[in-house]
Amino acid sequence: MSEVYDVVIVGGAAIGSSVACYLSGAEGFDGRVLVVERDPSYAQASTALSAASIRTQFSNAINVAISQYGAEVIRDFARCMASGEDAPDLNFHEGGYLYLAATPDQERTLRENHAVQRACGADVVLWSPEELAAAFPHLRTGDIRLASYGQSGEGWFDNTGLMNGFRNRARAQGVDYIRDEVTGLARAGSRITHVTLASGRRVSCGTLVNAAGPRAAQVARMAGLHIPVEPRKRTVFLYDCARSPEGSARVNHGRLPLMIDPSGVYCRPEGHYFMTQCPPEDDRAVDVGDFEPSHAEFEERIWPVLAARSEAFEAIKVIRSWAGHYAWNRLDQNMIVGPHPEVPNMLFANGFSGHGLQQAPATGRAIAELIVHGAYRTLDLSPLGVDRILTGTPFLEKNVI
Ligand SMILES: Cc1cc2nc3c(=O)[nH]c(=O)nc-3n(C[C@H](O)[C@H](O)[C@H](O)COP(=O)(O)OP(=O)(O)OC[C@H]3O[C@@H](n4cnc5c(N)ncnc54)[C@H](O)[C@@H]3O)c2cc1C
Repeated sequence: MSEVYDVVIVGGAAIGSSVACYLSGAEGFDGRVLVVERDPSYAQASTALSAASIRTQFSNAINVAISQYGAEVIRDFARCMASGEDAPDLNFHEGGYLYLAATPDQERTLRENHAVQRACGADVVLWSPEELAAAFPHLRTGDIRLASYGQSGEGWFDNTGLMNGFRNRARAQGVDYIRDEVTGLARAGSRITHVTLASGRRVSCGTLVNAAGPRAAQVARMAGLHIPVEPRKRTVFLYDCARSPEGSARVNHGRLPLMIDPSGVYCRPEGHYFMTQCPPEDDRAVDVGDFEPSHAEFEERIWPVLAARSEAFEAIKVIRSWAGHYAWNRLDQNMIVGPHPEVPNMLFANGFSGHGLQQAPATGRAIAELIVHGAYRTLDLSPLGVDRILTGTPFLEKNVI
């Protein structure tokens, strides 16, 4: 005989736990929720390997609004998630993002994006090269045409703290977490009826939520469905700087932002060190188990860019590096959220393509609304639904790092 749950969530990292938290806390919901997580150490989860930053500088108004809500939750997390003595502060550093444009095309994109962001109320300003140099004197700005800087609502925070906060709250609200792997989904016509687990257990479910991160397509295939999500490797390097420019900014109490160079290389302060990453030259799907860092990226691509951008970055040393997987949505690098039209009791929350951590609060809230009310109540995420995938109509996000 199989166990019965109203909702089964596959994957218990940032997205799965956010869904579990919002759902179990929703007024009017008293169903049983099970989260199945294959590896509760989260050693290879994107959540744990993330650069953990949040921005409002997107090209799509929906993504701006999603992150504005994310920032609200992250800023106020300790109060929202407090239980007993424990009040998890996510240590939100509102350092801002700084985008640099060096070509006419890049300048046009920054101006277009800025108009979208301002219309959403995002606190983003455009700066001339002179204004940029005055704000961040350590930068070489000779090749820069325009800069875009987020004055508030952007920065970085504690990634595993976000996940743990959601998970602990979900558990306190009655959600069951088990260590197991979903290996099969049984379908009767247009419904998922139950899941089978590696341990041999069978669990009946009313609704299934796919929150399997880079393995999302595997889970979809178990129900005979296809989503264009694949693991893409990103290597993060932590470096030490002989003469750190942190503290030298003439804005934001001296603090440096997360700077995106026109080449796509980004860097930001991380405590005493700096964190950096670049989009791989040969960016393709990798094996779900391949976490070997691409060491050559630092010497060959990142260091030359950083050294050219600032004298302070000429003498730097890698302290640590790791590789994680983006759950890359090949169609348009945006999340896929909501039910599948062929199987309406299977909900997707996948394909975040490198910006899913900041989107976890809005995604959890949205999926909970779909389950409890059958419709979105706050932010309408329907343009990010499965329909566009089936018709091959991209909802493109131009600002992907
Ligand atoms: C290097 C790097 C930098 C990033 N930087 C940022 C950033 O700065 N800002 C930002 O917002 N986002 C960033 N991201 C993206 C962000 O981390 C992810 O979008 C987000 O963490 C996705 O969370 P998730 O829960 O969907 O996936 P994951 O964290 O990967 O979790 C999926 C979980 O599902 C489990 N699972 C999978 N299959 C099964 C199964 N069959 N049965 C049971 N369990 C299963 C896995 O074990 C895993 O724990 C970055 C990602 C990487 C890799």
